[in-house]
Amino acid sequence: VAAVVGVTSPEHDVVVVGGSLAGCAAATMFARRGLSVAVVERQPRADAYKTICTHYIQGSATPTIERLGLRDAILAAGGVENAVSLWTRYGWIAPAADARARHGYSIRRTKLDPIVRDMAAGTGGVELMQGLRATSLVVARGRITGVRVRAGDRSERELTGRLVVAADGRASELAAMAKVPGLRTPNRRFAYWSYFRGLPTIPGPVAGTGQLWFLDPHVAYALPNDDGLMLVAFWGLRKDLDSYRGDVDRAVRARIAELPDGPALEQATQEGAWLGRLEMPNVYRLPAHRGMALIGDAALSTDPLWGCGCGWALQSAEWLVQETADALAAGRDVRPALRRYQLRHARELLAHHLMICDYSTGRRMRPPERLLFAAAARDATVASTVHAFAARTVPVGKLLSPMTMGRAAITLALPALRRPAATVLDISRRRERLAPR
Ligand SMILES: Cc1cc2nc3c(=O)[nH]c(=O)nc-3n(C[C@H](O)[C@H](O)[C@H](O)COP(=O)(O)OP(=O)(O)OC[C@H]3O[C@@H](n4cnc5c(N)ncnc54)[C@H](O)[C@@H]3O)c2cc1C
Repeated sequence: VAAVVGVTSPEHDVVVVGGSLAGCAAATMFARRGLSVAVVERQPRADAYKTICTHYIQGSATPTIERLGLRDAILAAGGVENAVSLWTRYGWIAPAADARARHGYSIRRTKLDPIVRDMAAGTGGVELMQGLRATSLVVARGRITGVRVRAGDRSERELTGRLVVAADGRASELAAMAKVPGLRTPNRRFAYWSYFRGLPTIPGPVAGTGQLWFLDPHVAYALPNDDGLMLVAFWGLRKDLDSYRGDVDRAVRARIAELPDGPALEQATQEGAWLGRLEMPNVYRLPAHRGMALIGDAALSTDPLWGCGCGWALQSAEWLVQETADALAAGRDVRPALRRYQLRHARELLAHHLMICDYSTGRRMRPPERLLFAAAARDATVASTVHAFAARTVPVGKLLSPMTMGRAAITLALPALRRPAATVLDISRRRERLAPR
């Protein structure tokens, strides 16, 4: 880590390292508040994108996506408004109208990343510098005031700002250089996924939604995406990895074939190989440290099984801008604003993250979770709360509140009090009927 005492005033108001979802969202919103922003992205190509992602963006991020003005571009590129039906051993829990209204978006990162980067590059006040890697920190009087960056030709320069933002993802190099305190917990699941065209759809209330199977402890999904593609994923336990290593295609197809009402992969065309991620620990880092802010995966990389990372990357970028932009614009000390951001980040996400970490141990569902799913498969009110929670539009406290748990218990004990779910559908064995003659 280079320690250079800055003697000149910073070149930029904000220096963002990482030009992906979090970094470009923050840069755009800072610049809209009249601030000058440098974004440093090590990928040189304008069409670079993250390959390791199943890109189901939860409904929690929809307001941020709309405020960024990304909705039309996502839909124009073929992205879809998403919703998911949950299979549990108690039946399907399909999203009713209220849950569908809390939709997010699904769109492959091949399309999403360039859209988000174009948005930032086209915003006055943002200087997007691709092909530059941040290699060390500039520190003045103990505070991080900039980064030293290196280009492909090995030339180096320094970029200084009144605020440095680490948006450099799960393996954040900036966090490592700044020794940001964090908490890392193991994730005992792995994932394989691929894309399919021409999958027969399941009729009834679950039609047109994605499907997620809680096989307890395994999980699988089939998620509609842009260009009519279906992303099919399987999440297994790392202790069983040996049985996948020899022939991933055969092993994953065998698991998908076992899914109740599952996708008939043999009737569809696979586009591209199976992609996989075998190790993905949960990492929480303090979102503000020595004057530097962390957003997106740099601050929190939670188990991707729940599809929260893209949405939280955009949302945490917005929280940072909302908390710090006024102080930066007024030339005030930004540290109190960073403390507010840190608290807000924790208030919004920490309980979700801790619950996700607990499930990523590969454990089976606990009695309260089974109670909620059993009730949600029978009662529309509980189903609505479960869907809102899955979309991360309500806090953990709402899911586990005495009101929700009480309603779930009463629903199971007293069927007469159920609000019957038009959302509940028994479609077992319909798959055979879908097979072409
Ligand atoms: C298997 C898997 C599946 C997932 N599925 C989903 C899903 O369905 N839904 C969902 O919401 N999330 C999902 N995620 C999580 C999601 O991919 C991330 O949360 C999201 O990409 C975070 O965005 P980000 O901008 O914070 O970081 P990233 O997208 O990782 O971007 C970081 C950027 O920083 C750049 N960078 C890094 N270091 C430097 C440096 N030193 N100098 C310059 N640039 C640098 C990188 O090139 C990159 O462009 C998944 C993740 C995994 C692993």
